[in-house]
Amino acid sequence: MPIDEVKKSDHFIVALKIENLENNAKVSQETGNPYLSPSKICLMKREEDFEANLSGEEGTTEETKSSWFKRIKKGILTSTAEKKETPEGLWTKCPSCNYICTVTELRENLFVCPKDGHHHRIGSDEYFEILFNDNKYEVLFENIRSKDFLHFTDLKSYQKRLEETWHKTDITDSIRIGTGQVREHHMVVGCMDFEFIGGSLGSVMGERIARAVDYCLQHKTPLMIICKSGGARMMESAFSLMQLAKVSAKLSQLTDARIPYISLLTDPSFGGISASFGMLGDLNIAEPGALIGFAGPRVIRETIKKDLPEGFQRSEFLLEHGFLDFIVSRKELKHKIATVLTLLKN
Ligand SMILES: [Zn+2]
Repeated sequence: MPIDEVKKSDHFIVALKIENLENNAKVSQETGNPYLSPSKICLMKREEDFEANLSGEEGTTEETKSSWFKRIKKGILTSTAEKKETPEGLWTKCPSCNYICTVTELRENLFVCPKDGHHHRIGSDEYFEILFNDNKYEVLFENIRSKDFLHFTDLKSYQKRLEETWHKTDITDSIRIGTGQVREHHMVVGCMDFEFIGGSLGSVMGERIARAVDYCLQHKTPLMIICKSGGARMMESAFSLMQLAKVSAKLSQLTDARIPYISLLTDPSFGGISASFGMLGDLNIAEPGALIGFAGPRVIRETIKKDLPEGFQRSEFLLEHGFLDFIVSRKELKHKIATVLTLLKN
């Protein structure tokens, strides 16, 4: 714009100011605006620099260098070791509805999501605490341990896998047998732990259940097995499969002695478990929403080349199709088991 015209126009002050600032193209477009005061131009400049600082870039103008905040070095420089971690297990997120709450809150709610009632996977310790009066129980047959008699090696040797699992957890095998009082009934409860090689059925699980049955026969106490397993333990091959027949035979001894056996299926109960003693209970019951089946849904879908119905292999689906006697929520578990045992006794 010729200088005379600028002097005559309303934009005079604005135009001069910009020139002094050695401004960039963006702001100079605003020159024609009579309402844009010099202070406003400065403010725009500041904001621009602030954004440049946030993104770790250096501004291009002289002003940027004298701005309020300046990043001396780019990027995150804290090493992983120095990082301040949130203590693990303090907060937890529901895998079903993403509700976030503290572990303490979840524990008080028996590991059932307060929002949508999703049953979180828990181990034998938690089930024993839910079932036995005052958390008092005796754990049996802990001395029986797995052994790598086939010298089986997949990604690592079976022996090494066992030792690592013993080291990582305080569980000795994929099932624990506890005995104690459930309300007014003396009871034996076998509960699987998924964290011990996927709760897989090995010779130790078979032997512990067999001895639990002997204990029940001797003391005339009912038996309940809480299933949570991926199926047979492939590292024990045929020895694992033999347990299916062995446990089934032992359970028939309970039937002969007219002692009740209850099978509680929890998420997930798959493979050999659901193909044998998981479905052999006088009562077969399950937790809500538990995934129960023999082969997984993906394998079935690929085999039959058909889409599977909604809720396939969930407890509600199985109840509808006659596989289960009833579904029990964790909060009612103790009460229902005690009631059922009272009914069976009379
Ligand atoms: Zn939830």
